[in-house]
Amino acid sequence: MKNIEMLLERQRSFFEKGNTRNIDFRIRQLLNLKKSIKNNEPQILEALKKDLNKSPFESYATEVGMVLEEINYLLKNIRRLAKTEKVRTPITQFPSVSRIYKEPYGSVLIMAPWNYPIQLSLSPLAGAIAAGNCVILKPSEYAPHSMSVLKKVVEEVFPEKFAAVIEGDMEVNKQLLQCKFDYIFFTGSVAVGKIIMAEAAKNLTPVTLELGGKSPCIVDETADIALAAKRIAWGKFLNAGQTCVAPDYILVHEKVKEVLILELKKQISKLYGNSPIQNEEFPKIINERHFNRLLSLIEKEKVLFGGKYNRELLKIEPTVLELDNAESIIMKDEIFGPLLPVMTFRSMKEVKNFVNNRPKPLALYLFTTSKVNEGYIMKNTSFGGGCVNDTIVHLATTSMGFGGVGESGMGSYHGNLSFSTFSHSKSVLKKSNILDIPLRYPPYKNKINLL
Ligand code: NAD
Repeated sequence: MKNIEMLLERQRSFFEKGNTRNIDFRIRQLLNLKKSIKNNEPQILEALKKDLNKSPFESYATEVGMVLEEINYLLKNIRRLAKTEKVRTPITQFPSVSRIYKEPYGSVLIMAPWNYPIQLSLSPLAGAIAAGNCVILKPSEYAPHSMSVLKKVVEEVFPEKFAAVIEGDMEVNKQLLQCKFDYIFFTGSVAVGKIIMAEAAKNLTPVTLELGGKSPCIVDETADIALAAKRIAWGKFLNAGQTCVAPDYILVHEKVKEVLILELKKQISKLYGNSPIQNEEFPKIINERHFNRLLSLIEKEKVLFGGKYNRELLKIEPTVLELDNAESIIMKDEIFGPLLPVMTFRSMKEVKNFVNNRPKPLALYLFTTSKVNEGYIMKNTSFGGGCVNDTIVHLATTSMGFGGVGESGMGSYHGNLSFSTFSHSKSVLKKSNILDIPLRYPPYKNKINLL
């Protein structure tokens, strides 16, 4: 605890000296971060293989590549984003000028989960650096190899007084939360998100909470079913379903249920072969606790296909389940594994009510060719973000923000929002001294008639 406080103190004094306010300094640090990621790329890919059995392609596409894209975007746009904005001033304030200054918060705490341990640590780190903050990053102890490589990547290019990685278990997270940071950026579960917010409230520290939840995947009777099945299978079984925006469950129109299930089966074997557990590229479950949790969910449901597992390898096959009861235990919490329950619906109204009667999801996916159904779902349901006729890919664009709503989180980042999330917008009105209109000064007497 003492060490953390001393480190934070050193970061404070580095920040107070104004080092990070300089845009050229920030650009140099983003370039340093990029260089360090590239230099350590083989070690990063190896760590992800060890922690989650991710293939090099998956690790690059969903972790390293996304971080590099985010850094490149910030490098390209940082001067525009950091520029003081001149905005319109109402005539009632004449003569004056209004400006919005983009100000870094100071010391930022970033807490990351284990499922995309590199991307979810380094993307927010890049945003915080671009906005001119000092950073303490705490990765998840459940991905220990990724945690060590993150320390290496950061230590190789940054002095601790500017950006540091703190390793350790949940006790370290608790200690960090006792310190007064200027901003907390947390990615993780809804349950821990609530703890983070309660702790942050003690110091009125602003937070971004990137949480999870049960993201519905809706397939209507007009959808291109074969393509839908392929894109759903890809998004669901990426990282063995351990993705915050993975389709959690399918709601399919009853008319196309059978054909969707057949197509899902076909697509899963196309993507992962007939024995996904033996497939070198298929990721594993992070640890035994989650492995057991997932097995206990399978046991209670009707398995349509899949369901095999290997305890030694901590692998579970892509498993499709038929659900006729929405009260089933698998519909209670986020699944976060390769299990895909399928339920049917008869009308879009039923879908709307189903989604709206549950906590607002992080993502929603709709497969349809009907503009009417698309408009209805977009207008009548609330969710963090999502796709029409695809899954997951909405978060791979720097021109849209990524974040939750309601229980799936608050605040967003990626692209421009990565900069604004970590900046305070300071609004300043500068008044001219030439003219001083007397209206606002007492005595007011009959001035009300002039308004
Ligand atoms: P988690 O909430 O268990 O852990 C996240 C971080 O919080 C870890 O660093 C962990 O050490 C720490 N932590 C755990 N318990 C704590 C406590 N009591 N006090 C303080 N810190 C504590 O989440 P996880 O299991 O690592 O990740 C899975 C969850 O994260 C899923 O719910 C998933 O949907 C969500 N997630 C969200 C996003 C997003 O961008 N919205 C991305 C990935 C994962």
